[in-house]
Amino acid sequence: MHGDDFAPRVKKLFDPEREAAIDAIQSGVYIGWRCPEFKHDCIRVCKNSKCFCGHLLNEHAQYTGKSVMVPCTAPRCECKAFAFIQSRPEEAGEFWLQRRPGYDPSTWRAKCKCKHTHEEHHPTGLRRCKVRGCGCSKFFSNFLCAACDRHWEEHETSFETTAIRKDIGLPYGEAYLPFHEFPELRNMVLTGKEDDDSQYYALTSGPHVIPENSPTDLALRLRGANPQHNPFIW
Ligand SMILES: [Zn+2]
Ligand SMILES: [Zn+2]
Ligand SMILES: [Zn+2]
Ligand SMILES: [Zn+2]
Ligand SMILES: [Zn+2]
Repeated sequence: MHGDDFAPRVKKLFDPEREAAIDAIQSGVYIGWRCPEFKHDCIRVCKNSKCFCGHLLNEHAQYTGKSVMVPCTAPRCECKAFAFIQSRPEEAGEFWLQRRPGYDPSTWRAKCKCKHTHEEHHPTGLRRCKVRGCGCSKFFSNFLCAACDRHWEEHETSFETTAIRKDIGLPYGEAYLPFHEFPELRNMVLTGKEDDDSQYYALTSGPHVIPENSPTDLALRLRGANPQHNPFIW
């Protein structure tokens, strides 16, 4: 029903979220981006996710599952609290861009209605535009969330422990895997093949199950910590 490249494309689309999910399940620290009233995350945030300030989460201060404000540690950056922002056009629903000849995904930046990028806006307060002559006083995304069709500024980034998520009714553990309720899509995200559930079962049952706190070899391999044994390079 889909082209041959559909499953690998789904897997690639979810590369950062697979990493985020496995990291969260294994460390017990969940980082979600969602509208405040939601009982699910629009995006699972990983340490390579981008902040509104233009720096990655791993360029911000140490965090735990109880962090509220995670400030940036990059020199001269004024960011006081990590705030996820899309760093790939497909995360903002712009799927057609990646097919344009000569398109370089590293140059893409999420933009405001004023046409300037998030990096051209102040990372604190109302996030007004810094470009001279631009009257924009508050960042207002010119794109919608690919998961819920709402604007960027309606969302928040939250740091949570497994216990906090249990308490407020948010998914944790294997239910945090992308598409965990749709086996074919879930398999595509994990392995790039819709009928290959080996990684799912390795993660959720048997001797390689991910314990609540300590990482297993398989979890590390899925995360890509040991590229020589990366099960995704076939
Ligand atoms: Zn920063
Ligand atoms: Zn930041
Ligand atoms: Zn603006
Ligand atoms: Zn502007
Ligand atoms: Zn959303």
